[in-house]
Amino acid sequence: MMTKAMKNRWPIPKLAACTCGRAHTPAPGMPPVLMGEESLRSAAALLQETMGPGPFMMVADCNTQPLADIISARLSSLPHTVFTFPHAAEATAQSVALIEAALPADAKGLIAVGSGSITDCTRLVSFKAGLPFAVFPTAASMDGYLSWGAPVLVDGYKRTYPAQSPAVVIADPEIYAAAPITLTQAGFGDILGKYTSLADWRIGHLLLAEYWCSAIVSSVEQVLGECMDIADQLATDPVAAATTVMQALLVTGHAMICVGNSRPASGAEHHISHYWEMRALAENQPAPYHGAQVGVACVLSAAIYEALLVRESLVEKPFEWAGRQESLSDHIIRQATVNAGYAKDAAAQVLADNPRKHVEQATQLSFEQINAWWAQCRNILEHRLPSPSMLVAALRRAGAPATPRDLGISPDWVYDAIVYARELRPILTILDVAAMAGVLEQMAERLAEESSRW
Ligand SMILES: [Zn+2]
Repeated sequence: MMTKAMKNRWPIPKLAACTCGRAHTPAPGMPPVLMGEESLRSAAALLQETMGPGPFMMVADCNTQPLADIISARLSSLPHTVFTFPHAAEATAQSVALIEAALPADAKGLIAVGSGSITDCTRLVSFKAGLPFAVFPTAASMDGYLSWGAPVLVDGYKRTYPAQSPAVVIADPEIYAAAPITLTQAGFGDILGKYTSLADWRIGHLLLAEYWCSAIVSSVEQVLGECMDIADQLATDPVAAATTVMQALLVTGHAMICVGNSRPASGAEHHISHYWEMRALAENQPAPYHGAQVGVACVLSAAIYEALLVRESLVEKPFEWAGRQESLSDHIIRQATVNAGYAKDAAAQVLADNPRKHVEQATQLSFEQINAWWAQCRNILEHRLPSPSMLVAALRRAGAPATPRDLGISPDWVYDAIVYARELRPILTILDVAAMAGVLEQMAERLAEESSRW
């Protein structure tokens, strides 16, 4: 029977008809989302419905503590304790251990009051303990709320642990729109990144017959367009803008659940941002927000697309391709590359987690096949991606960091990210295509130099 609390669920916008044959709306495994004003009022009922009567442990940090107090008061009918990090929480193995140590033996579930870091740590702890967890997003800053994976930094390497989706997401603007505008700007950057992640998904599908669905793509494109339309609103009406961005982030999360991986939401721009984050950690420097990095990395990735899409042939001469086929599938070369690009511990983790790159499959193709594939990609992608300058302008309208310099990222880090980030994940992205074309280093050099003048 549908209870009153359930009726207030946010309906995920219906997906258009598609031919992929999977059930999409809502995707199997999609947790209920309560979205909008008054959500807090139904929170206790929905929590009880989805996670039982408790007791629960709520997880917050020094920044989200005041919001945890508001939520705690609303959940007074449900027994719960509150664990608060005394500092701003980071998604690290140490944070996970702290939550585990604080978890009462009789807890029947966890409640995350935070954005990326708190949610991911809570997700991992709840999964390991075999308990459900709920999320009260405190910022429209990233698209991982619905995710089943928990990216956590371990020994300088960002590993995504398989975990679980929340049992319920309760997104009330009283909570998420109270965040500093820089967090909504980060969410805007994370959404902007979908331009290049969707393009990367498309080229992977065309080359390696990966699963792909037009309806899922359209759902992400739709919310991406809505966010582009309200870029200026981040300054003029931050509460309404946070709601638009939050909905876009949840729709993207739904798209990932539909697909069963992060293809609709994460490509080269995310790998570049992960690279910067790991580098900052290795060199003891503060890392900008994930979404802020993604927005800037999206501009770089779009610049690589722009440079490659003008090429009629990806590879000019058959003998060049023969040489590249060998070097791109050579494990000794790849090992040396990873060791050169990553700190020692992180390099070992990168190789252990990603022993093979999907680009190796691509190197099995003939010279004619690889160029025929590229012709197909050009046909589909030409004029579909905004130019780098349009992306910079959109980020600027939103007041978000738009260039590496805005993030405090040096030309050296731009160069290294473009050359090394592709080793972080096996999936095919535009960075791999640049390597296949033999222009990755050249592209990195050019963009390191050019982007310092953006
Ligand atoms: Zn992201």
